[in-house]
Amino acid sequence: MPSFSGLPNILILGGTADGRILANRLAATGHFDVTLSLAGRTEHPAQPDDAVQLRRGGFGGATGLADWVRTHNIDLLIDATHPFAANITTHAAQAAQQTGIPGFAIRRLAWEKQDGDCWHSAQNMTEATGLLGDTPRRVLLAIGRQEIAAFAKAPHHHYVIRSVDPVSLPASLQNAICITARGPFDVVQETNLLCDHRIGVIVCKNSGGTATYGKIAAARALGIDVIMIERPKTNGLATVSTIEDALRRIDGVLG
Ligand code: NAP
Repeated sequence: MPSFSGLPNILILGGTADGRILANRLAATGHFDVTLSLAGRTEHPAQPDDAVQLRRGGFGGATGLADWVRTHNIDLLIDATHPFAANITTHAAQAAQQTGIPGFAIRRLAWEKQDGDCWHSAQNMTEATGLLGDTPRRVLLAIGRQEIAAFAKAPHHHYVIRSVDPVSLPASLQNAICITARGPFDVVQETNLLCDHRIGVIVCKNSGGTATYGKIAAARALGIDVIMIERPKTNGLATVSTIEDALRRIDGVLG
């Protein structure tokens, strides 16, 4: 329902820790009505504070999002979705244009390759699967659970699959162990995981940020290959990369 408090209404498209933290910080000021929107992919997502209104589920494309923004008298739209969530990112930009309300995205900077990193770049999961090669390898899949099916084409490898929610394995992908765990993961935890499972290669997305960087630092120290899925190119909103920059921008837009 639209808010009648008279405070500016902010809609944050969530899906990242930054989105939740920003929502909590804004709501705690008492100066804004803040709604955090989640797609509903994660069964038990981390919850925002009580002062934040939570909604779940899609809007029905860019037009549905624009309708929601109008109906709820939204004054500012913030895209705080994951860097790989390309569809909602595009919809956010389109909805801001259709409604004429201001908007921006908060996106952590991508990780940069450092000395000692053994990275192999891939544009998508199919390319990553090919890069694993013909010789059986022990692979850590740290890509979430939505795109595991791509690796069914390479069942000769042994997979350790880590995800927040349990994964349903494709029938041909039985040479796999599933671990459910929620980050952040530090470098010691990640080193132990890689050593315990004798991992030879990690497949992950270039998510950026510190919460999941531990595996990258651990791989560097152990000399383990990383197949790095690059971010999709999107036509999204103008971007800031930190919560502090987001707060400054909101101050500039809404006062
Ligand atoms: P996507 O392909 O860009 O989005 C697919 C559809 O899900 C969108 O068209 C939209 O449905 C709905 N949706 C996505 N984010 C939403 C939000 N915050 N609130 C309401 N509806 C939302 O994204 P995805 O890759 O499926 O990811 C879904 C969510 O999980 C995102 O919020 C993302 O931040 C989070 N996530 C994704 C990844 C990843 O690697 N892709 C990793 C961690 C978290 P309608 O068109 O019906 O509006």
